[in-house]
Amino acid sequence: METVIDLDAIAHNMRILREHAGDAAVMAVVKADGYNHGAVEVGRAALAAGAAELGVTTVGEAVQLRAAGITAPILCWLHSTDTDFAAAVAADVEIGISSVAQLRAVEAAARDLGRPATVTVKVDTGLNRNGVPPLAYPEVLTTLRTLVDEGLVRFRAIFSHLAHADEPEHPNNDAQRARFLEAIATAKEHGLEPELVHIANSAATLTRPDLAFDLVRPGIAMYGLSPIPGDDFGLRPAMTFQARVALVKRVAAGEGVSYGHQWIAPHDTTVALIPAGYADGVFRPMSGRFDVWLGGAPRRNVGRVCMDQFVVDLGDNAAGVQEGDTAILFGARPHAQQWADLLDTIHYEVVCAPRGRVTRRYVGGDR
Ligand SMILES: *Cc1c(COP(=O)(O)O)cnc(C)c1O
Repeated sequence: METVIDLDAIAHNMRILREHAGDAAVMAVVKADGYNHGAVEVGRAALAAGAAELGVTTVGEAVQLRAAGITAPILCWLHSTDTDFAAAVAADVEIGISSVAQLRAVEAAARDLGRPATVTVKVDTGLNRNGVPPLAYPEVLTTLRTLVDEGLVRFRAIFSHLAHADEPEHPNNDAQRARFLEAIATAKEHGLEPELVHIANSAATLTRPDLAFDLVRPGIAMYGLSPIPGDDFGLRPAMTFQARVALVKRVAAGEGVSYGHQWIAPHDTTVALIPAGYADGVFRPMSGRFDVWLGGAPRRNVGRVCMDQFVVDLGDNAAGVQEGDTAILFGARPHAQQWADLLDTIHYEVVCAPRGRVTRRYVGGDR
């Protein structure tokens, strides 16, 4: 079984995002191994399609992109007490900081290396997750100003993240915008002039041009999944999760299929065995409720999804499905959103699911 990643879809989606971004530059978010699509390959495809920068969560992810030869600006923004900031400084990775303690740790790394760190301030404008909260902000700014004056830090940007971007009309978006503008003004009062400011994720990029500022930071939309269900914006899913039929067999009426015989064949039928299970990212709670696309039609899973395999019903198999045929678990059709609906989650989690034994293959792009 494999995920097939269409790099032409990444380029297509990037073009749509750039149209929406207007004059703002685009930072392609490739955290979590490019939402499980491959950070290096997606990062390269995004840059080739006009993204200016890459964004990831951790220093480790950023350093991996550098090691792969990517020279574009890379920002990382989530750190813990044992984060290796020296690795970030050495690799010329921009560090998004959320506290004075992080700033001090970055300072130490810059001193050790004898080389300035590039720092961006993440301000908390109401998500209350990472980012500098209002009470800590003045001390962050005075500390930062000192480090800039000492030549230990290059101050690059101020950014923030939205809580309700998937509801474009939600008043919290305006509230966060107002707090963001205030935070920028406060930094300027401290003599800190950001080169750029940014707050928009995919949803805001596609629906709120007033939040584009200097740069937008789309993730999910670049992978072809709409952050706003019901409007696809012309995006094309880049990931197809597929597996080859391992066995085709007859099952007699009255026979039960898979553990616990949750499904009993109501009549003589033909089934196909798909060698992918919950260890590979096929969620067991979907048992009996999802279809794969196989032999030109949707085929319902029957019986429980197991660790390594599940079964689909082919009925009389008029389509002539054979061993070796490819079943699409999700991609253009069925869509990751259908899995998300069944699982009461979001498609972000669905594309992050394929793992372990699942191999990855790239198509399209200029490789
Ligand atoms: C993940 C993330 C993004 C991208 O969000 P999408 O909803 O996938 O577009 C942008 N900015 C930050 C800070 C993030 O953590």
